[in-house]
Amino acid sequence: MTQDELFKVLVAHCKEYGFIFPSSEIYDGLGAVYDYGQLGSELKMNIKRYWWEAMTRLHDNIVGIDSAIFMHPKIWEASGHLSAFNDPLIDNKDSKKRYRADVLIEDYIGKLEDKIRKEVEKAHKKFGDAFDEEKFLETNPNVLRHRQKINEVHERMAKALNENDFTELRQIILDCDIVCPISGTKNWTEVRQFNLMFSTQLGSVSEGANVIYLRPETAQGIFVNYLNVQKTGRMKLPFGIAQIGKAFRNEIVARQFIFRMREFEQMEMQFFIKPGTELDWFKQWKENRLKWHTALGMGEENYRFHDHDKLAHYANAATDIEFHYPFGFKELEGIHSRTDFDLSQHQKFSGKKIQYFDPESGESYTPYVIETSIGVDRMVLAVLAHSFHEEQLENGETRIVLSIPAPLAPVKVAVLPLLKKDGLPEVAKKILHELRFDYNVQYDEKDSIGKRYRRQDAIGTPFCVTVDHDTLTDGCVTIRHRDTMEQQRVKIEDLHSIIDKEVSMTELLKKLL
Ligand code: ATP
Repeated sequence: MTQDELFKVLVAHCKEYGFIFPSSEIYDGLGAVYDYGQLGSELKMNIKRYWWEAMTRLHDNIVGIDSAIFMHPKIWEASGHLSAFNDPLIDNKDSKKRYRADVLIEDYIGKLEDKIRKEVEKAHKKFGDAFDEEKFLETNPNVLRHRQKINEVHERMAKALNENDFTELRQIILDCDIVCPISGTKNWTEVRQFNLMFSTQLGSVSEGANVIYLRPETAQGIFVNYLNVQKTGRMKLPFGIAQIGKAFRNEIVARQFIFRMREFEQMEMQFFIKPGTELDWFKQWKENRLKWHTALGMGEENYRFHDHDKLAHYANAATDIEFHYPFGFKELEGIHSRTDFDLSQHQKFSGKKIQYFDPESGESYTPYVIETSIGVDRMVLAVLAHSFHEEQLENGETRIVLSIPAPLAPVKVAVLPLLKKDGLPEVAKKILHELRFDYNVQYDEKDSIGKRYRRQDAIGTPFCVTVDHDTLTDGCVTIRHRDTMEQQRVKIEDLHSIIDKEVSMTELLKKLL
């Protein structure tokens, strides 16, 4: 199966098993808006819990808040979003489809990178153990040609974006012979700017309503509460404020399922520091955040840093943590050194003094900020895409399994009586009632045991516990492990500790220290 086909199967699987539905589906859906179903919302909640506890419990100096989505409209003037939160868009005149000009160029670069990867694979096969990849990359003429093209296009794009030179952006698309993926033509319009914020009105029109915006990021809710939290929490620099919440962007091109949505959720943390220490903290937060990801065991090779060519108006250093999605390496999280831009702007626009008195040096200053910002939905997609496998079993059957990292799995244990009679359901329900205080558990007595195992594999349940006739006399049950399908006979009273070793969020969090 190609990655494209696999992705389609995954999207269908998410719907079939109650993870993710298109929003307003009975009305034919709403573009790039999705609802989380009964299992998707559990998965999402576990991801949020992992992040929240890693931030607020494992750091004495990070606290969490929950600010409102509606905020004073001046905030978006101060933050620069009203004037600068734009994407360059371009339309194909034949297909009438709209694209982000920079994304079209990045996809083109991605294709050249794929070509290099393929050259390496081919040579690897040809030369076997004697293959020297480093030397090959330095000398192979095809690789060198692709690399030179990548660098050239990259540089031109970075310059055009920095200078807001839309004529040049369009020219790059033409020079690279980039065609519309739908119509296959190069019949492009000019490149235009498009503001991504949604607006609405506060109050009734007759009262003279104010235009307000749905926040495009949660960060500003943190900045405008900096003084409140610092004072009431008696926080000393360095300290952080974390927040999880919805954000809204009128994305031009909303494709790739929950990767790019118009309503999504962010987990953001602003870390306030002394000016001059930002590059040290930036480095530390890069390491810290990568560790949070790799502790989940989804393969270190699936993450990479991508430093920004075009720094946002507020940043003096920025990187993305990219994840290897089925459609290539793409941004999962952003880490930005935002200087004192936001706090200074809010000081200017609100007229309130926003500073920190440093008791050690006796000076007052505006703190600098390192931000870590990750999309919950992109994290859900990373977990689902990485976990989804179609396996060929020895007996010729296939099984679909979601090998979701156990602490994030929506359901942790399924308790299954082998038969629907002979007192087995009663014992199974007793076990269920004991486990439910610690875990999300499911009970299932319908169909053959094999079918029930498959249903649990398909939703990523790490353990199935089967009660059979012997259980009535020996007090033991069969516990089956999702990934290995290995079965063990264990005492009912040992279940808790066996399950806990794998699904415990505490154990996962301990890996971060
Ligand atoms: P992109 O370049 O992909 O548009 P961005 O650089 O604009 O993303 P940020 O403003 O840095 O993204 O937002 C922080 C995080 O929020 C991103 O790393 C991503 O995980 C998430 N995010 C941003 N936009 C969306 C969206 N439209 N849908 C889902 N998640 C999003």
